[in-house]
Amino acid sequence: MSTIRADFPILDQQVHGKPLVYLDSTATSQKPRQVIEALVRYYEQDNANVHRGVHALAERATAGYEKARLKIARFINAASSKEIVFVRNTTEAINLAANAWGRANLGPGDEVLITQMEHHSNIVPWQLVTQATGATLRYVPITPAGELDMDALDALLTERTKVFAFTAMSNVLGTINPVAELVARAHAVGAIAVVDGAQSVPHLPTDVQALDADFLAFSGHKMLGPTGIGALYGKRALLEAMPPFMGGGEMIREVFMDHSTWNDVPFKFEAGTPAIGEAIAFDAAIDYLDALGMEWVREHEMEITRYAWERLSAIEGLRIIGPGPERRGGLLSFTLADVHPHDVAAVLDMHGVAVRAGHHCAQPIHDFYGVPATARASFYIYNTLEEVDVLAEALERAKALFSF
Ligand code: PLP
Repeated sequence: MSTIRADFPILDQQVHGKPLVYLDSTATSQKPRQVIEALVRYYEQDNANVHRGVHALAERATAGYEKARLKIARFINAASSKEIVFVRNTTEAINLAANAWGRANLGPGDEVLITQMEHHSNIVPWQLVTQATGATLRYVPITPAGELDMDALDALLTERTKVFAFTAMSNVLGTINPVAELVARAHAVGAIAVVDGAQSVPHLPTDVQALDADFLAFSGHKMLGPTGIGALYGKRALLEAMPPFMGGGEMIREVFMDHSTWNDVPFKFEAGTPAIGEAIAFDAAIDYLDALGMEWVREHEMEITRYAWERLSAIEGLRIIGPGPERRGGLLSFTLADVHPHDVAAVLDMHGVAVRAGHHCAQPIHDFYGVPATARASFYIYNTLEEVDVLAEALERAKALFSF
């Protein structure tokens, strides 16, 4: 563990005079030196625009950018790197799928099914596209335990359903959904399955072919990579049949005054100059995760989550929402009696502990539990059991401060 921590320069600092305990990786992860160095190396040695140049720098930049695409494809076991579209983040990936596929395939009478546990990034794009096409948006409800209501799902998935879009792991409840089963159920009624992998791809082994997902969206910055780079995986036949989402340079084959023709996939969806250095640094992030092994990542987070569950559950007045530690990813969202979560987070910050407070871009979940906000502690490869102790002690102090 000390060797992992030594790779993350940012962790070696004090906040308000206390060692930093970073428990906000669900929002964004920290970056190892290897990723930072890949970014700096690119800008110091190889910076050029991709695909268009014949000079040495342009060739190096293009080779690095395309190698990153191949690395990402392998990481999620895609059949081909042509199935990986570079985007800025999960949000852009879902917007791309919703607009390009949705506008070409949805109309009045069709239904898009999402769930009550989605991040706003997997709600709002579908609201927009159903409003634009006249399709209807429906939601799978959640149970009080914070899991999908599978009986309700049975009734909601019908031959009218054209898209079933759901998160593989909730960023608030931590719930890990049975992705392969949900995809199979979508396919059984003829719908496509769009999977929000923002929280699952960084934390769990992912095999898109085994899952049979039609689209999978994820962000580099939540898995040790830089901000500004993410990916949309799409089955090749779907990507080829879809019209483009944005127009401009790179995504065209030929442009005439009155019309244009499109480049091959995935370039058809990559209009304009992409985030080249960030893609190359994303490649370095995947190397880092590959060296650890995603099975190890999952086991490490389970150990911390079990321990954190035990420690936090023992605090009087603290309520964790979502399923038990065995059925969730490495995060705990909670309330502390009636203290506002922002106040809890502010007290924790005074102890050097960084957690997030708010609705975490998932208001429907908070409405379901009847709370406006929660505080959320989340764990990644660099967190330790000792840091959970610091969190628990700081929460006890918060409790004493607000005297209940
Ligand atoms: N989906 C889930 C489940 C998330 O947790 C997040 C970010 O927290 C997103 C989507 C959006 O990710 P991004 O902000 O990188 O687009």
